[in-house]
Amino acid sequence: MTRRQPTELTAGDLELDSELDARSYTAAPEALADRVILVTGASGGLGAALARACGSLGARVVLSGRNVGRLEATYDQIVAAGGPRPSIAPLDLERADASHYAALADAVRSEFGRLDGLAHLAGQLGELAPVEHYDVVTWLRVMHVNVNAAFILTQSLLPLLRASQDGSIVFTTSGVSVRGRAYWGAYAASKFALEGLTQVLADETDALTKIRVNSVNPGKLRTAMRARAYPGEDAASVPMPEAALPTFLYLLGSASAGITGRRFDAQDVRPDATGRGT
Ligand code: NDP
Repeated sequence: MTRRQPTELTAGDLELDSELDARSYTAAPEALADRVILVTGASGGLGAALARACGSLGARVVLSGRNVGRLEATYDQIVAAGGPRPSIAPLDLERADASHYAALADAVRSEFGRLDGLAHLAGQLGELAPVEHYDVVTWLRVMHVNVNAAFILTQSLLPLLRASQDGSIVFTTSGVSVRGRAYWGAYAASKFALEGLTQVLADETDALTKIRVNSVNPGKLRTAMRARAYPGEDAASVPMPEAALPTFLYLLGSASAGITGRRFDAQDVRPDATGRGT
């Protein structure tokens, strides 16, 4: 049996190092200058916070979502903070057909010619119910928005990501994407599927392209989704979306070059006494 020397690093140590690097990452001003980053779910919650942060670091942000009024609010916040003028790309992930995805890819191609970052923040919670009684239509909708639509959008944008020197794809998963939890139904299943998609796509792109693909569990955050999942919770006890941003910004920028196929916890997610989390 070989003994591990005190100074010897294992793959696990290296993974932990980069996770801690990611959580404590402080982006330099203009760290994302000239990068073109598309954020889904940019109309609210964590997606809007990430879009604002990318804009404040100089990125040209493509704001995607289904509610144009709320996307315009994010747009206005980025411009008011002095960021580059973003683009708005309306897309309802529940209803979009092939022509909508193609039109979005065409619009990004004609405006920018490439895509440097694709951050999937849009997601639906569905209902919290036992599998035996889970509403089938809700299950299909959650799986479609959270998994199928993320796959189709990624597939549509891969040629533009390949045109980047350093394309980064980030899928947003959850604390219930590693170990399932009773009543989390389609939401948990969809997040497991996204972890799988991350690994498959990372393996496919690793040798052949510069594209990297990672997943992030943001940890609990004070958003509309969290409030729906835990209606009795004191919102003041839940961190603001900004708590998860360092890891996303790390993965979307050049600091994480070469890192692919990994799952990150954006906050310290050792379960609390109740083991709760979204
Ligand atoms: P919110 O519910 O606040 O935001 C979800 C976003 O997804 C909104 O912008 C929403 O748009 C968008 N969306 C939902 N359905 C569609 C659709 N059909 N087409 C286009 N956009 C859609 O959730 P969070 O910000 O909390 O969640 C962001 C991500 O983080 C999700 O993937 C979630 O699973 C994950 N997450 C969140 C945690 C938390 O504690 N908050 C914990 C772990 C993971 P609209 O404004 O139109 O509703």
